Amino acid sequence: MTLGENIHKLRMAKGMTQKQLADQLFVTSQAVSRWENNEVEPNINVLNKMAEIFDVTVDAIINGPNEQPVEVKEEIKIKENVANCHDCHKAIFDGEAFKKVERFHYEGSGRSRRRVGEIVTLCEDCYQKQIAEDEAKTKKAYEDKLRSLKNRRIWAYCMGALAGIIFLLIFIFGTKNLEFNLALRIVGSIISLYGGFSLVYCLIWETYIQDVFLTIAGFGFVKFPGIIFEFSIDGFIGLIVLKIIFVILGYILAAIAIIFAIIICMVLAIFSFPFYTGKIKAKPEDINI
Ligand SMILES: [Zn+2]
Repeated sequence: MTLGENIHKLRMAKGMTQKQLADQLFVTSQAVSRWENNEVEPNINVLNKMAEIFDVTVDAIINGPNEQPVEVKEEIKIKENVANCHDCHKAIFDGEAFKKVERFHYEGSGRSRRRVGEIVTLCEDCYQKQIAEDEAKTKKAYEDKLRSLKNRRIWAYCMGALAGIIFLLIFIFGTKNLEFNLALRIVGSIISLYGGFSLVYCLIWETYIQDVFLTIAGFGFVKFPGIIFEFSIDGFIGLIVLKIIFVILGYILAAIAIIFAIIICMVLAIFSFPFYTGKIKAKPEDINI
């Protein structure tokens, strides 16, 4: 602050006009104006008088009233806004923690529906919230999976038991007129009951037997070649006869394949069943969120 500025400030603080100050100092108001504009400096007598009028020291007039050097305690850094949180929209500044995560959503519908990944920036709070949500989701998916496995296990036992009874009945009635001795009947009944049960159990409880069954039975569902025929009444009748023969052949082939698949798989199931009754295990990493 210059001397002129100090005089001006002190005068204004007293609520005096240039004229009022000039009158008290026995000078012209132009003189006060020139001091304040730093065109000339007042002499020491005037300064002493001015100090009395303003009720301050001469030093305060020269160096400024109540002027304390402002100590710059801290350099205020203007931090750069590096990103905004995707979830809460909070600004994230340089040096603050944030995370980049990939999020998936679906775009389009029907056949053009596809999974789209997007990298989003999250503030630390929203990131922690996201982790907690993901964990809860995984935990729930795991529990759901375990529950559905337990339900399927129960279903496999029930349907297996039903199949066992049906196989047993087929054996009893199918061999009624055959000359089987008691031992053979008992062994046959046990094999039918247990075989039917273990077969259906293994088919429902996704074991390798399911694949074996589908592969063998699949041979019975071959597609017959198309028939080229002459468009006449003879040709037409011939076509119908051929079609009927193919349909019958198809059914016979399918039935043979299914019976063959049942026999093979039943033998496999009898020995494999004990290995598929253990504790239900589902690893959390098997769960897709
Ligand atoms: Zn946030």
